[in-house]
Amino acid sequence: MINFLDLKKLNAQYADELKAACANVIDSGWYIGGKELACFEQEFAIYCDAKHCIGVANGLDALSLTLRAWIEMGRLSPGDEVLVPANTYIASILAITENNLVPVLVEPDEATFNISPAYLKEAITKKTKAIVAVHLYGQLADMPAIMDIAGEERLLVLEDSAQAHGAGIGGRKAGNWGDASGFSFYPGKNLGALGDAGAVTTNDDELATVIRALGNYGGIKKYENTYRGVNSRLDEIQAAMLRVKLRFIEQEITARRELAGIYSVEINNDLISTPSVAHPEAHVWHLYVIRSKYRNQLQEYLNSYDIQTIIHYPIPAHRQLAYKGQFSDSYPLTDLIQDQVLSIPLSSVTTKQEIHTVARYLNDFSIA
Ligand SMILES: *Cc1c(COP(=O)(O)O)cnc(C)c1O
Repeated sequence: MINFLDLKKLNAQYADELKAACANVIDSGWYIGGKELACFEQEFAIYCDAKHCIGVANGLDALSLTLRAWIEMGRLSPGDEVLVPANTYIASILAITENNLVPVLVEPDEATFNISPAYLKEAITKKTKAIVAVHLYGQLADMPAIMDIAGEERLLVLEDSAQAHGAGIGGRKAGNWGDASGFSFYPGKNLGALGDAGAVTTNDDELATVIRALGNYGGIKKYENTYRGVNSRLDEIQAAMLRVKLRFIEQEITARRELAGIYSVEINNDLISTPSVAHPEAHVWHLYVIRSKYRNQLQEYLNSYDIQTIIHYPIPAHRQLAYKGQFSDSYPLTDLIQDQVLSIPLSSVTTKQEIHTVARYLNDFSIA
């Protein structure tokens, strides 16, 4: 069996350090809002080259609390339109609707799967106030172009960096392009905790303060509430796990890049296309996503040889029951992509042998 992602094997690489860090927290007697969180926030801010990092409970909260903070700060109002890629994971869109903002879906660039700056420009109306720029599958969106558009149109930019820790262009990483950036540390992400966790990075002092308050029942000081906040915390054990794993993130990315490089060289079948990369540094290969007109047959075929694959994502937001009646327009590129994409095994603990095997099976795939 070639696993899509073997988390047990992945975390086993760091097991001694993770166990020691966990034991430290247990022995400290301090489990929420302590030294591990403060250190992780500082270390992750440095990693992203951002001024602030605010730990929260998960990636969805990171996005949602940022938008909420902009509402509290008077920079957004309920009913404002927020541009977001049509082919993103549902969380990017839930964060918008949770705040009574209006998501406007934008079609992707077919080559990179990321939001197309040209379509983005076309979608701007008088009500448009922000962009959620998703770095989908681990590839940085076209941030230079997106930031230019945002500058001209005075739009806020929130990066959804849940899949792209460490991706960058010209040394400038995800988390330091937009006005703020939301990260997820869900166990399967490139920087994964051993439970739920998330964070926001930003260079905006006021935004950082408001997000921190919102995640703490709406108050900076205990028992003093400025906002009707929520409870969204990154606990000490997860912060400690993340501090260990942050030390190895560059190794993780290097391993993924090497394996992705093998796929891109070895996969050679007219029925399958491999992903394109705008800049090598821009992609951290959270997912290696191929495309085929015969995607469903291809998935069954690989499955019959015990090769696990996943579709990211089988139902786009505009076809989800949750958003019935919300989106009237059609999204032909998103539908096409959603019918053709297939994510094949890739992680830092996938072996080169496994990569060669998957590539060989892909090359042998044919349609009767
Ligand atoms: C995982 C993910 C999220 C949500 O993160 P959680 O920690 O699961 O809440 C948001 N956006 C994208 C693109 C993701 O992949």
